[in-house]
Amino acid sequence: MTYTYDDQNIFARILRGEIPNKTVLETAHTLVFHDINPLAPVHVLVIPKGRYVCFDHFCAEASDAEIVDFHRVAAKVCAMTGVAPDRGDGFRAITNAGANGVQEVPHYHLHILGGRPMGRMVAKV
Ligand code: 5GP
Repeated sequence: MTYTYDDQNIFARILRGEIPNKTVLETAHTLVFHDINPLAPVHVLVIPKGRYVCFDHFCAEASDAEIVDFHRVAAKVCAMTGVAPDRGDGFRAITNAGANGVQEVPHYHLHILGGRPMGRMVAKV
């Protein structure tokens, strides 16, 4: 793959402790924190600690341990925040990639949004 990781992106700076964040959960491979501009009552970001630009980059190049940990942590956070559909009202998980995906921060992240109906998947244009 030809991705080039920008070490100055905002999430890299959060991971280095240069910018504060409201941490929800942290493991050796994964960090979860509240989005600074929440679009729903629950809006958290799940990020790997490794240097991955976007979803496909992470899936292709992360270790099995990183990939498993990321998803286990995401599931745990859904339960912790009360949005998991077995006990709560559900959520939407979104990851944006590249220009058409309108990705703002070039460090892979999964948005978990819930606490209200999230509407249609994408706007029809
Ligand atoms: P993207 O558009 O890349 O999928 O989403 C980036 C997300 O990062 C946005 O929802 C934005 O609000 C969030 N964000 C940007 N800068 C910061 C920051 O400094 N701290 C936190 N907690 N979230 C941020």
